[in-house]
Order: sequence, then C-alpha cells, then structure tokens
Amino acid sequence: MAKLRSVKGMNDVLPEDAVRWHRLEDTFRELVARYGFGEVRTPLVESTDLFVRSIGEATDIVEKEMYTWMDKSDKSLTLRPEGTASAARAWIQHSVGGQHPVSKWFYVGPMYRRERPAKGRYRQFFQAGCEIYGDPGPFVDAELIDLVVRYLSALGIQDIEVLVNSLGAGETRERYREALLEYLRPHASELSEDSQRRLERNPLRVLDSKAPQDQAIAENAPQILDYLDEESAQHFEDLKTALDAMGTPYVVEPRLVRGLDYYTRTLFEVRGRGGDLGANAALCGGGRYDNMIKELGGPDTPAIGFAIGLDRLLLVMADSEPKPSLDGFLVVRGKELRGQALAVAQKLRDAGCRVDADLRGGSMKSQFRRADKSSAPFALVLGDAEAEAGTLQVKELATGDQQELPIEQVADAIMRR
Ligand code: AMP
Repeated sequence: MAKLRSVKGMNDVLPEDAVRWHRLEDTFRELVARYGFGEVRTPLVESTDLFVRSIGEATDIVEKEMYTWMDKSDKSLTLRPEGTASAARAWIQHSVGGQHPVSKWFYVGPMYRRERPAKGRYRQFFQAGCEIYGDPGPFVDAELIDLVVRYLSALGIQDIEVLVNSLGAGETRERYREALLEYLRPHASELSEDSQRRLERNPLRVLDSKAPQDQAIAENAPQILDYLDEESAQHFEDLKTALDAMGTPYVVEPRLVRGLDYYTRTLFEVRGRGGDLGANAALCGGGRYDNMIKELGGPDTPAIGFAIGLDRLLLVMADSEPKPSLDGFLVVRGKELRGQALAVAQKLRDAGCRVDADLRGGSMKSQFRRADKSSAPFALVLGDAEAEAGTLQVKELATGDQQELPIEQVADAIMRR
C-alpha cells in the first residue's frame, strides 16, 4: 500500500518546532496589542468571487494559484490565498465603519496558494497581518511600516531592506497605464507568454513579472513616481518625512508594484538579505487599498495593510536556544506509588509548574534516562520515605545537587531556576 503523506507543499509542525512558531506569533500579538489592534478570525473558505474582485483577474493568484471547487450547492468556493480580502469582507458585512471611524485589525493564520513549492514557498503558508480602515494616511502608513521593522527586530531579524513606492490614486494609474502601454507595445513579442496575455488588460503586471526577459524590458520602463497627481505626490513626501522622523530606514523603489491589483498610493515590501533564504527574499508586503472597500460594496473608506510570511521568518531568524518545555520530571521509586505521584504532579501543575512523569512503572534507571532526555532541569524523586513525609528529592540534573523539600516549596524552588 502506498504510504500516506501530507499534501505537497503543505507541512507538519512537530512539537519541537512549534516552540519557534509560538515565539513568532506571541511576539506579533504582544506588539500589535500595544498599538490597539484587535484580532479578526475569518473562515478559511470564502466565495471565489471575493478574491476575483479584490485581488484582480489578471494576477498569478487568481489565474493559477487558487484552490477553487464547486460546492454541492453549485457555488464556487476558494481556500483563502491571503487575508486582506476576507478581513475587508467581514468589515463590510458587520458594518464596522458605522460604529468606529477608524478600526485596527490583525490576523494570524494559514493561506493557500498552488505555487511551485520551494524553500520558503509553500502551498499552505502562514501570514500575520494588520489592516487599518478609515485613516487615509500618510502618517498611519509610516507607523505601519515602522511596526513591521520593529517586529522583525524583536525577532532578531535586522538585515533587511524596506522598499517603498507610491502607485498614486485613480487618474495617476490611468495616465501611467497609457504611458507604460506605449512603452511596452513595441516590445510585446519579446515578453513572456503571461505578460503578452496581460499586456492590454493590466500592463503593471509586466513590471512585477519574474521572467528574466520581462525584467530586462521593465528596467527601462517609465516610472510611476513621475506620473503622480499632486495629492499623491504630497502623500508620498509626507510618508518619507514621517519615516525619517522615526529613523525607519527605507529605499524608494519606483518599480515596486507587487502581485495584487488592489493597491493605491503607498506600497511597501520588506526583504531579508541574509539567512537560509538568500538575498532579497520578500518577508512582508503591504500597501494602501483605498478603493477596495467601495468596490466590494462597502462605504467609500480608505484602508492600508500588510502581510508578513511567517514561514520565511523562521528561515531567516537566528536560531535561539530552545527554551526547556518542562520544569521538572517526576521519578517514582516503586510501582505502588504511581497513584500518589499523579496527585503530586497535579499539585505542582496547579502551582504553575510544567511537570511530566513516566508512569509506565519502569526502573529508576530508565525513569532517570527519560528525565535526562526531557529538557527538564530537575528530577523530582518520590519514594516511600518522601511520600510519608510529604516531601520530594529535588535533583538538579546538570550538577547532581540534591535536596529534600516539602512539596509546597518544590514549585517555587524549581521555577525560580
Ligand atoms: P503577498 O500576500 O503575496 O503580498 O505576500 C506577503 C508575504 O507572504 C510575502 O512577502 C511572503 O513572505 C509570504 N508568502 C507569500 N506567498 C508565500 C508562499 N507561497 N509560501 C510562503 N510564504 C509566502
């Protein structure tokens, strides 16, 4: 019989690795709470329409990468490929704008894209993201970019580059589109197949293409920053001034467009320069999407957000010592004491200790072997004498130092370590 395996590009996380995932998620939650973000949890499955309308038809995600199927009721459903569209849908559906002029949401969870799996590119991957509705920026844009930098820095990821650009507002895009088309049309036959197909519908996509022949042509394309309307130009200037004031390092990258259609004005990407992923790996993408809420049927509301790829952070994060996951390992001298050992373990857990025991009834030697392997700094020995006296022998495994303590004092003693 063929061995059962996880689906290609979708990975298991075993308990040893889960510790690092918790660190990523806990650090994120603690940080965003300090800015007043509240968590939104949306379903993993949405109507396909939501993503087609928000992300855009002529994009890699919608054209090739979504997990889409017909439900039994003949409705097309899709596993979410990103978090922004779902959050916006929820924000509109629950009329949040009517209650709060500005709302700050965050999410953490799995996303699904049928990409070609590689290191740092999976078909189920995890993103942590923030969305702010109702503030047109640019100061909140700067604050959000700075938040991402602070988060990475809290994880020890400092070798990064922050790229910023502006895509302007409505008429900028139209004027730039025309200029770009004029430049690209004579090169049409040299472009990749995807880019040729998308050229007329969405020429900006060509700038974002990974095909080398497209990149060579994009190199000399007109730059959107030269086409910004006055308000967008001021918005971009103010963004840069605010970043300077906070000391947040950034580089202006006029060719940055990114793979989703919904962006307006501020656009940014954070790339990692070191670690296992190699140079220039995208760790975070974000930007303003002032038209999306209205286009999805909500009130005209500006919004901005970002998504960080957590799988990639794990690959660039400096490996920190894993924290021991136990404080003590209970060793029981004599099978008959196992029931009592359970009660002792329970008491210690009630006091906040992380305690495990080997209750299979093996020899002292085999129990100590498990204690040594367990990552617990202390073995806690319970024999007849200790049971009688209401004590435990507390043995520090690294040094062999041992002392007998009343059970009530054990929790304090081992947690102080
Ligand atoms: P995006 O939603 O495409 O703007 O991506 C935001 C971030 O999510 C990227 O910078 C990556 O760090 C991460 N990401 C996107 N796609 C994948 C993937 N297939 N596997 C792992 N991480 C991904």
